[in-house]
Amino acid sequence: MSTIASLIDKLAQERDLPDQELLELITTTDSAANELLAARADKMRQQYYGKKVYIRGLIEFTNYCKNNCYYCGIRAGNGQAQRYRLTKEQILDCCAEGYRLGFRTFVLQGGEDPYYTDERICDIVAAIRAQHPDCAITLSIGEKERASYQAYFDAGANRYLLRHETAAPEHYARLHPASMSLANRKRCLFDLKEIGYQVGSGFMVGSPYQTPANLLADLRFLQELEPDMIGIGPYITHEQTPFADKKSGTAEQTLRLLSILRLMFPYALLPATTALGTIHPNGRELGLKAGGNVVMPNLSPVSVRKLYELYENKICTGEEAAQCRGCLEARVRMAGYEIVTDRGDVAKSML
Ligand code: SAH
Repeated sequence: MSTIASLIDKLAQERDLPDQELLELITTTDSAANELLAARADKMRQQYYGKKVYIRGLIEFTNYCKNNCYYCGIRAGNGQAQRYRLTKEQILDCCAEGYRLGFRTFVLQGGEDPYYTDERICDIVAAIRAQHPDCAITLSIGEKERASYQAYFDAGANRYLLRHETAAPEHYARLHPASMSLANRKRCLFDLKEIGYQVGSGFMVGSPYQTPANLLADLRFLQELEPDMIGIGPYITHEQTPFADKKSGTAEQTLRLLSILRLMFPYALLPATTALGTIHPNGRELGLKAGGNVVMPNLSPVSVRKLYELYENKICTGEEAAQCRGCLEARVRMAGYEIVTDRGDVAKSML
């Protein structure tokens, strides 16, 4: 048995490897590695989740942001970005349309937009909760005080997505201005967990200056956090950012890490992300085959889709929600899986 195959077996059995061996898997140039990893990860995923793929309806409700992350197209400093906000009524319309299409999770994502005070967020969350008592409400609106997170939770939010982006402080400092810190992002994640949210974290693959040691740190941090969901996608360059001349990450490396994550966190909800679908025409299908079990079709009004441009050439910006849902359903089926419309809570109880 080759070294890589035995490393993969060991990872699948022990859910962990010593640093040196994990680094070997992350960096191997063995051309068969990805295929072997994907096959093992798929087996693991089927043990926990069968062929089920959960869908989350993504509502990108504002592209205003007070932050200036160097990689992100909607950063405050991008004066060329055309900004928009959805009204509460528009958001509720998106949810109603989503519900009709079978969505039972709504993800409200946006930049860190001060217009949406805690009061406004709570009002929106409470209205969705009242109209859709059987649905999960997920927020992805960045770093807040603990009291704010508590208020959203009390208003009816159940889940929160906040990628840690990179778990190495020196790398974090190269991707963000000095006003932002990894320490605060981690504080947020642990607060969210303590409050009782199902928490999603994650990182970009191939972000500028990222080293294999940084990726190892990401995996170690996730072991510490034990999130319910882990979102990863390739970093993709955006021209109107300070990283305009930096290279994008690759589908290959993202898929490899997705499989490693499935083996380390068998219970986790792992999305095959839009970024992965953007960098490769079959990225999301390949993501499912490499261990992913979640897809997040866009429910935002078509009129604003293009404006939520975190990175260039983002896919699915021209289709109505129903088309998006249908297209993804066909893709999931072609890849050999099936979309299910239950809320899709984490399978931690199977541990
Ligand atoms: N403001 C929220 C939502 C951020 S957007 C927050 O702070 O959590 C969601 C994710 O998109 C980010 O966490 C980041 O990982 C990813 N992202 C941003 N810019 C990107 C880029 N250029 N390429 C790929 N992914 C990017």
